[in-house]
Parts: sequence; C-alpha cells; structure tokens
Amino acid sequence: MNRIALAALLPLALLTAPAAADPLSDQVRADMPSLMAIYRDLHANPELSMAETRTAAKLAAEAKRLGFEVTTGVGKTGVVAVMKNGPGPVLLLRADMDGLPVVEQTGLPFASKVRGTSRAGGETGIMHACGHDTYMTAWVGAARRLVAMKSGWSGTLVMILQPGEETSEGAKAMLEDGLYTRFPKPSHAIAFHDSAGLPAGVIGYSPGPALANVDSVDIMVKGVGGHGAYPHTTKDPIVLAARIVTALQTLVSRETNPQDPAVVTVGSFHAGAKHNIISDEAAMLLTVRSYSDATRRILLDGIKRIVRGEAIAAGMPDDRMPIVTVREAEHTPATINTEALTASTAARLTQRFGAERVLRTPAVMGGEDFSRFHLADKSIESLIFWVGGVPREKWDKAGGDPAKLPSLHSPFWAPDAETTINTATEAMVTAALGVLAKG
Ligand SMILES: [Zn+2]
Ligand SMILES: [Zn+2]
Repeated sequence: MNRIALAALLPLALLTAPAAADPLSDQVRADMPSLMAIYRDLHANPELSMAETRTAAKLAAEAKRLGFEVTTGVGKTGVVAVMKNGPGPVLLLRADMDGLPVVEQTGLPFASKVRGTSRAGGETGIMHACGHDTYMTAWVGAARRLVAMKSGWSGTLVMILQPGEETSEGAKAMLEDGLYTRFPKPSHAIAFHDSAGLPAGVIGYSPGPALANVDSVDIMVKGVGGHGAYPHTTKDPIVLAARIVTALQTLVSRETNPQDPAVVTVGSFHAGAKHNIISDEAAMLLTVRSYSDATRRILLDGIKRIVRGEAIAAGMPDDRMPIVTVREAEHTPATINTEALTASTAARLTQRFGAERVLRTPAVMGGEDFSRFHLADKSIESLIFWVGGVPREKWDKAGGDPAKLPSLHSPFWAPDAETTINTATEAMVTAALGVLAKG
C-alpha cells in the first residue's frame, strides 16, 4: 500500500538484535512458535470478504479461552471480545479478517490452495495477499499479553475482528450492528497494517491524514451505433469517451489545489466488438481519491460536469447523455490519525524499538475503512500505523526500492511473517498500555 523508498536503511544487526531485554519482549518471543502455528493455519485457509466464518470461529474461541466476553456475528461475521478491568479508558483494538480473490504464487509450504467464487461470479483462488493474517495473529498475541499483564492496567479492552475490509463494508456493517451501542464505546481506537514499503520490523506512522478518501465511479457513455464505414450516420461513443478520459486529467492538474493531494484514475475502459462496427456504448470505471471533503466534492462534481460537457460538444442528443454513477455504498472515507494519540504512541514505540525502527512516513492514497471507527464519533482518538513486512534480504537486494518488490495484493506477497508478527504484537501491547497503563 505505501511505497516509500528507504534505500540503505538500517544495518541488518539492528533488526535481528532483540529489543532491549525486558519481560514483554521475552514473553512475545516465547509465544512465537504458538503464534506462528496460528498464522500458518490462517494463511492456508483464507476466506473472502464478509464470509470469514471459519476464521471468526477460530479466533473467537481463542479470545473466550483468554477470558474475554465474546460476541460473534456482529456485522455479519465480525467478532467483538470485551474485557472489563476496572475504571479507565475504553480501547478498541482492531484486526481485519478477509482474504482476496488472488491465486497465491508465493511457493510457501503453507500457501493457500483454497478456491472460491469471486463477486464477479468467476472461480478464483483465495489468498491473504494483504497480510490480514499477520494482524489477526498479532491480535491474538496482544490479547494474550494484555491478559497476562492485567494487574498493570485499568480500563476496558474491546478487541474486534472486522470482516470485509477489502470491500469497504465491514467497519460500516459492525457500526450499524451496534458496535458502539451494544458494547462499551471506545475512547481510543488502534490498528496496524503490514507494509510492502518498509523492511520487516520497521514501524511507520503518519500524523494527521494517513490514508485517502476512496470513491468508485462508473461512467456509461452512450452513442448511436452503426457501420464503421458510415460514421456520419452515428454518434461514436469511443471517440467521446476518449475525449472524456483526456479532459478528466485537468481535474487534478487545473482544478484542485496542488497542495491538496488528489487522484483520478480511469482503471477500465470497455467498448466495441468488431473492426467495422461503431459501438453504441462505452463503459469506464474510475477510482477517485482525495483527503479532504472539499476536494472530494470538486472531483466528483467535476467528473459529472466534464462528462456532460463533452457529450454536448459531441452533439449527443439529450436522451443519449452519459450516465455517471458514484458508488456511494463503496465509499471509503479518509483515515485520520489524531494528534495526541499518534504523538504519545510514536514516543512510546520509539522508546521501545529505537528511533531507527520507528519512522515518520508520508501519507498514502490507499484507503482503509478503519477510518469509520473515528468518523462515527470524532471524539474517539484514533491511530493506524504500519509494520514493515519485506524480508530483509529481499529489501537489500532491491536496494530499498519498494517498486522492485511485490506490493500488497500481489500473488507473490510473502512477508517475513515472524518478524512482522513479533514486532506488531509488541507494538500493539505497547500502544495499548500507553492508553490503559495505571499511573
Ligand atoms: Zn488490501
Ligand atoms: Zn489490508
């Protein structure tokens, strides 16, 4: 998701050396064989968005054994595990559960061979290509440590497993199913995401906006079809759609503030069937990204205006105007890391791992529906941070250039799971204690 060039970062010794010997590091290290067994099982058995039933049942049982009050089926397949431990803040820790319709090609001994049906209707392989298996495992690791350290903190832990992050519907589904009314409402929310842009064991954080507003827009350009030899008797939707694609480029270059990031990408363009037929429609699919609501409005309104304007310029009759559909249900709002929680957590993580392993990283134009847990009540302090997953030797071989390495969602994405999970577990416990520790 984030691509940050960090060439020649860190000597190997720094990453492999144990963090300053202390009980937390020792306990997490001792738990790693058990956590890796959970990881390999989750990795080999991924499930698609909103169908994470096996995964939810396995981890719900784990949380029950630890003494959490566990509710399943929240927002379809979501899990809420609550532990009340005296007065104090209510901390939500989130991991997401879904895999992707990707045929795994990592060659790992525990690679997924699972197959299923994608939403597009085709048969597909399924893979944890975004690393959600590493979050779930670190979620278990953090839960175990926080339970073991119960006498050292006071407050309420609300540990959630969210379905459907990849389809942007899971956080919304859990909130709509009463996450903040049926269960203690959080004062703080924390999550992490693995990163294909950082070496394994390195943590990244971005204060303020961290991930973008994401919108999906469909444009159906209609035309008047006919014979390719007689264009004057037709209205060619391909020529019109091509003009629209070009004109859309001016939205970011001429209409939005250059200081405020924005992206308009036409990711799909389909029209026509044969050399000598002028089609009667052209279909385009766009991803539209921004941070601010104002810029989001400029982009979405601008798309509608440009599409209509180009159709008029092409002489399209009123009843053949293009149709622009903004898929509101698939909207992912921008993810904001709130100031106080980000600063205090970054300081604690730096103290634990050292400044070389905790970096301030640029915001990215990817999206995360973790944003919704803060947006549902803006008084909730919120933070999502990155934990690097790229195996050190691969990072070095690529000269620290993530563009030369598999990205998240790639069928080849094989993080150094042990280092990622070990680091993430320690980091999540450290971040949680920052909110809940006594005194
Ligand atoms: Zn993803
Ligand atoms: Zn993800």
